[in-house]
Order: sequence, then C-alpha cells, then structure tokens
Amino acid sequence: MSYISRRLAPVTVIILMGVGATACQQQSVAQVEPGAATVLTGLRIIDGTGGAPVEQGTIVIRDGRVVAVGVLSDDQIPAGATTIDLAGKTVMPGMIDAHGHVRAENDQMPVREDLLRRLRVLADYGVTTVVSLGQLANGETLELAKLRDEQDSIGDLDRARIYTSGPSIQGQKSAAEARESVAQRVSMNADRIKFHMADGGNREMSADTYGAIIDEAHKGGYRTYAHIFSVNEADEVLDAGIDVIAHSIRDQDVGQALIDKIQARDVAYIPTLTRDLSVFIYEGTPAFLEDPFFLRGVSLYHEEIPTLTSPEHQQEIREDEDAQAIKPALEQANRNLKILSDAGITIAMGTDVGGGGGRWQGYFEHVELEMMVEAGLTPMQALVAATGAAARVSGLDHLGTIAPGRVADLLVLDANPLDDILNTREIHSVWIAGRRIGADDTN
Ligand SMILES: [Zn+2]
Repeated sequence: MSYISRRLAPVTVIILMGVGATACQQQSVAQVEPGAATVLTGLRIIDGTGGAPVEQGTIVIRDGRVVAVGVLSDDQIPAGATTIDLAGKTVMPGMIDAHGHVRAENDQMPVREDLLRRLRVLADYGVTTVVSLGQLANGETLELAKLRDEQDSIGDLDRARIYTSGPSIQGQKSAAEARESVAQRVSMNADRIKFHMADGGNREMSADTYGAIIDEAHKGGYRTYAHIFSVNEADEVLDAGIDVIAHSIRDQDVGQALIDKIQARDVAYIPTLTRDLSVFIYEGTPAFLEDPFFLRGVSLYHEEIPTLTSPEHQQEIREDEDAQAIKPALEQANRNLKILSDAGITIAMGTDVGGGGGRWQGYFEHVELEMMVEAGLTPMQALVAATGAAARVSGLDHLGTIAPGRVADLLVLDANPLDDILNTREIHSVWIAGRRIGADDTN
C-alpha cells in the first residue's frame, strides 16, 4: 500500500464550522479548494449506524471531518484532493469505549504523561474515544478535563479523545451531601456524573440520596451513570431517572417490567463483560498474555503482568469467594445482554478498562466485542454498540458514525469484522480527525 504524501492544507475551519451536516455535504462538491481534502477510496464502509455496509465506497475528509461518504460520483470528488487507495480494506468508525477509566497510576512519571501514554495505546488499538467513569484523584480529573478541552483544536491529535465523570460518587449520607458531591465534580470540570449504588457491597445510598445526585446532575445538564449489580438496583435507579446503566445486571434474568422501564426513557445499557472476566481470569495465566495483538500494548501492560502472573496472586483469586462468584454472574450478564438486545434496548460497548488490575486499555475493547458476539449479538450489533450507539449514549454527537459533518475518527481493517468479529484486530491504520496516526508526518 503506497500512500500519496501530502500535508493537509492549512485548516480552513470557517467554511465548515457552524454549518449543518447537509450543508457540509453540499459544499464539498463545489467549494473544496484543491489540496484541502483527503479522499479514501475502494473501501467497504461500515458506518456505525447499523445500516448495510457500502462496497467500493469513498470517504471525503476535510478539516478533520467527513464531508461526503458512499458510492460517490466523480463530481463529488474534489479536484486536487489527496487520494488514498484503500481497495480491499474495511473501514468503521474509531471505537468509543463508553465505560473505561484513564487514571495516572505510575507515580514515577508526571500525571499528564501517564494519562497521555494510556490514551495513545487506546488509539493504537483503534479506540479513538474513551469515557472515563471514575477517577481516583482530583488532580487527575483536572488534567483529564484539560486534555478534553484541548483535543478538538489539535490538528494532529495522536491519542484517544477523553471525557470524564471525575471520581465516582459513593457512600453519601444525605441528599445535601449528594448535591454537594455533584457540585464538586462540576467544579473539577467533569462532563458527566457517575455514582455507585453500593460501596463495596454495603452502605447503600438511600433513594433520597441517589435521587438527589441524579436531580442535581440533570439540573446542570449532565448525563448520569449508575454502577449497579442487581435487577433491584437497576429498577431503583430507573425510577430515580438514571440515563445510563453502567454495568450488567448480574443476579437474575431481566423481566418485561424492567425492560419496559428501560425502554420508556431510552436508557442505555453498558455490559462491561471484560470487567467481570478480569475479576477471576487471573486465577491462572490466561493464554492471551502471549497473543501478539495483546503484545501490541505491552509497553504499557508490562507494568501489571508480574503481579497478575505471580503464584501468590493467582492463589488469592482462586480462594477469593467474591472473585469466584463473578463466574456465574458473568453467565447471567451474557444472558441479560442477549435479552436486552433482542428487546431493542440501546447497548453501548464499555469495558471498565483501566479500572483495576488486568483490564487492558486497548486490548480489552476487542475482547469485549468478541464476548458480546459470544453472548448472542451479531457482529453488526456489537460494532454499532462500539460506535454509533456508544456516541449517542455518551452524548457525543460529533463522533461515532461515518457521516457528513462527523469527525473523521476511523479504524481501517485488513479484514471484514462482519465475517468474524475477531477481524477488528486486523488493524491496517487508525485515523483521528482525518489524519493517520503513527504515519510519519503525512495524512
Ligand atoms: Zn468503572
């Protein structure tokens, strides 16, 4: 594959900013200046909406955004554009992890550097956006919010986009405390709110308390996520007005009454199957630690491997009742994912990566997709969960699908993931805001 090398022309933001998607598409025909556009051709396009893939498709990108997509006629290709032949490849939107974590965990390096290297590993795996639902420290939250505020204006962004809830709210004793805790996160510049229904299995917040969290968050226009485990907890947060259920329901089959409640307010459901896998899988040494695709992230992952593979740690997991209890809980999670998906509930891909030992940022998003398909979703349903649906659930309307006006964050694959979901691992290239990352200084 040879790439025609040419720098993007100086950004002409004014033309595109402030106009709607349709206007962008129309302008792409007549007003694109020579050299200002990048055109990707010959692609199978999975656009992230769930619609049938386009064969032999073309994507026109300008100023980091898609301006036209589909089987385009010659007059839709701007004269003088940089054309890149990607015949035989499949493109999908860059993945969005709707429930991950990005935390500074290495005290040997500056916070910002630690956060950035994690975001770069995510991007290298084709995860171009991560919603971090739970920080450990306030300084970390402030730094992530800074990175978020910078990302839309960086022309050569080389890492995943980040959004953050700040620290998850846990164990508040009163509605007043709950409201204050929301205000603290807003003052840290968080962009959404997350809370735990239970704190370590007990000290559950009262309905008044978590209700106050949701109410206070909604007053400020913030989407609110709940960490839950059971049908009852899900039922309670639904009554209180939750927007997103951030983990699987893992104690019993979801019944029709709960499905109706979820549907009535179009609440989204994030399974985080790999989170549960990570709780018990290190009772032994999982084979994937040798997987070349896992090793792609080893520059980051190596710090955790010695602990996870030590005989002492493995024995601890084997003897830990809570860890062992997650095995049947994961089976239940798989069943409920299929039930909810079949019922038409919006499913978003989320993993809890970075939220504990052995939850690999980058690698586990691909494993999550594999597990979703094993649970009974079609590859297309899993891909939508990781792209268009994840964007919608996360309130990120500029991301998640390949459509005029959307940011051109793309994952180009050597094989078709609709044939086999494992083909999301056949990464040809990752593009952020219309630029291929990791490729010298072109495109
Ligand atoms: Zn989490």
